[in-house]
Amino acid sequence: MEQDKLQRFMFEHGEVRGEVVRLNESWRHVLERREYPPVIQALLGEMMASAVMLAAMLKFDGTLIMQMQGSGPVRLLVVECQSDLTIRATAKHDDCGDLTRLPDLLGKGHFVITLDPSDPDQTAYQGIVPLHGDTVAEALEHYLLQSEQLPTRIWLAVNKQAAAGMMLQRMPGANNDELWQEALAPAVTVQPDELLQLDFTTLLHRLFNEQDLRLFSAVPVRFSCTCSREKVAGMLRMLGPEEVEAALAEQEEIDVTCEFCGQRYVFDAVDAAQLFTTPESRAEGSGKLH
Ligand SMILES: [Zn+2]
Repeated sequence: MEQDKLQRFMFEHGEVRGEVVRLNESWRHVLERREYPPVIQALLGEMMASAVMLAAMLKFDGTLIMQMQGSGPVRLLVVECQSDLTIRATAKHDDCGDLTRLPDLLGKGHFVITLDPSDPDQTAYQGIVPLHGDTVAEALEHYLLQSEQLPTRIWLAVNKQAAAGMMLQRMPGANNDELWQEALAPAVTVQPDELLQLDFTTLLHRLFNEQDLRLFSAVPVRFSCTCSREKVAGMLRMLGPEEVEAALAEQEEIDVTCEFCGQRYVFDAVDAAQLFTTPESRAEGSGKLH
C-alpha cells in the first residue's frame, strides 16, 4: 500500500497553485478507532483530506483545527492537522437517519478554522464563517473566499480505503482570469476514482498535460493523536478536587476516553488523590483536554 502523502504543484505562469492528497492508512485509523455511520465517515474523510491540503498551503507552524459546527443531528466535526502533517479527527452527532445533504445534517452552522501556533508567544487565529454549500468542498471554498479572499476550487473523494482530494487556488495577487479558467477547465473533469487510485504524477499529467506544471516533492501524512495521561491529569486538576471527588463518589473510577483515538485513561481514588498532592499538582493553565 502506498504511503499517505500530499503533493504541491504550481503552474509555471505563477498565477495558480495546487495540491493533491491521498490518505489510506491514516484514514483507516480513524475508521477503526471509532464507529461512525457512513454519512459521518464521508464527511470526516472529506474534511481530513481538506485539512491536510489547507495546512500544507498555509505552511503555518502549529496546529490547524478545522471544524464544522452544526445545529442539526451533526453537532461537530473536527479535524486537527499539525505542521508535520500528522492528523486526527472526530465527530459528535445524533442519529442522522436517511439524511445525506450537508445542510440537512448540520442545519445552521459555522465553518471554523483555528490556527494554534507552536510558539506560545504567538496568539491563535480563528476564522468563522456561516456554513454555506451542499458539500464539504463548497463549504471550504466559501470559507476561503470569505475569509482569505482567495478563489479556490476543491475536489474530494472518499471510500472505505481512501480519502483523497485536489485543490486549485489562485495565488494572492493573481489577476489573469484566462489562466485561472485554463487551469480549471481540465480540473473539473477529475473523477473520484482518479483521486482515490491514480498515482499523483499520472493524475496530474492526465489532467494538465497541456500546461507547464512544477511539481514539488511529495510529503508524508500520518495519523497521530496528541492525547496523553498527563494532559487528562491536567484537565482533572483544572476541575478541582471537589468535582473529582464528586465524580468518584458516583463511580469508582474516572474513565476518560479520547474522542479522537479511543485511548482510555482511568483514574481510581488513589490516582485522583495524587493529582492534588504531588508536586506537579499545579494547574496546567490551558485547560485543554488534548
Ligand atoms: Zn487520543
